[in-house]
Amino acid sequence: MFDLIIIGAGPAGISAAYEAQKAGLDYLVVEKNLIGSTIYQYPIGLTVFSTVDELEFNAGELRPAREKPTREELLNYYVRFVLDNNLNVRTEEEVRGVEKLSDNHFRITTDKDIYESRAVLFAIGAMDHVRRLGVPGEDLPKVHHLFRETFPYVRKNAMVVGGGNSAGEAALFLAQAGANAILAIFRADWENNDPKQGCIKYWVKQPLEEELSKECLNVYFLKRVVEIRDREIVLENEDGRIETFPNDVVFILIGADAELGLLTNLGVETRPGRYGTVPVYDEETFETNVPGVYVVGHFTEARHIAGAIKTPKKIVPLIAARLK
Ligand SMILES: Cc1cc2nc3c(=O)[nH]c(=O)nc-3n(C[C@H](O)[C@H](O)[C@H](O)COP(=O)(O)OP(=O)(O)OC[C@H]3O[C@@H](n4cnc5c(N)ncnc54)[C@H](O)[C@@H]3O)c2cc1C
Repeated sequence: MFDLIIIGAGPAGISAAYEAQKAGLDYLVVEKNLIGSTIYQYPIGLTVFSTVDELEFNAGELRPAREKPTREELLNYYVRFVLDNNLNVRTEEEVRGVEKLSDNHFRITTDKDIYESRAVLFAIGAMDHVRRLGVPGEDLPKVHHLFRETFPYVRKNAMVVGGGNSAGEAALFLAQAGANAILAIFRADWENNDPKQGCIKYWVKQPLEEELSKECLNVYFLKRVVEIRDREIVLENEDGRIETFPNDVVFILIGADAELGLLTNLGVETRPGRYGTVPVYDEETFETNVPGVYVVGHFTEARHIAGAIKTPKKIVPLIAARLK
């Protein structure tokens, strides 16, 4: 019987594991992919937007070559942190079910084993279901819902659909690498400068505007994507005109949603949040309406890495005190 099972080894799960270890809890982290797998999915070579102090577990540990770390530096830090602290993390093991057997007694079923624990902390992120447009042609092999790298697309006709930072970065990187890139975006998203609403960050927007002025990139004000064909894409512009563009590759980068099924099957209530459905939880303890079930990280309202790391620092000692 573990004291605490932590589901997910992203920044939130690693932070929770570190705090659980410090508090002397008998804990286990179960991760279905790799340590930091959401960061592993970032574009290769990406410089992240957060500052160092928002990304590290202890001040001074993350030492990037420049002001902000790259994907590789961040991933390396998280993996080294788990190894150096000998955190109890099992990777490539997916949690398939969580049942409450009685007070302080849960059964966690994975694809490899069955565990029991006194409390469960969900740190499952919000990347499980990429959002889709639901248009004809979206299943073609040239259509991607994740952007990793530019090299295959040099001189190709690349269309990026989306209004947030990921879409802005993809369009910028493609344009800079020599693709014929078009960013198809709602005008309101392009003109949105409010960081709280997930706009394109100014250090992405400025170089995007430079690429635009050099005519290395086009911005298309979109009403909807009509259809994706083998060699073309059909769009409707904001004035209702239907236009067809030659096209080799499409990136649909319109966000992702958490898989909340494990939680809702346990009886955890959900509500509409700012960016999608979120579990209902106590703002102080991050405990859900099911006693002993806690939620942290990207699928709560503390969605950035800073919040994902900070919340476990506060709540795991409380969980430890309660269990003792
Ligand atoms: C391109 C890009 C750039 C970003 N840049 C930044 C940035 O600069 N700063 C910032 O603060 N945020 C950034 N973000 C967001 C950031 O990645 C998230 O805020 C962060 O990963 C949240 O950490 P987390 O631990 O809550 O979730 P995640 O890192 O998503 O970790 C959740 C983990 O849970 C695992 N998991 C899920 N379900 C199960 C299951 N059933 N069983 C076992 N394991 C499971 C997943 O495999 C995953 O490894 C960026 C996101 C993207 C896509």
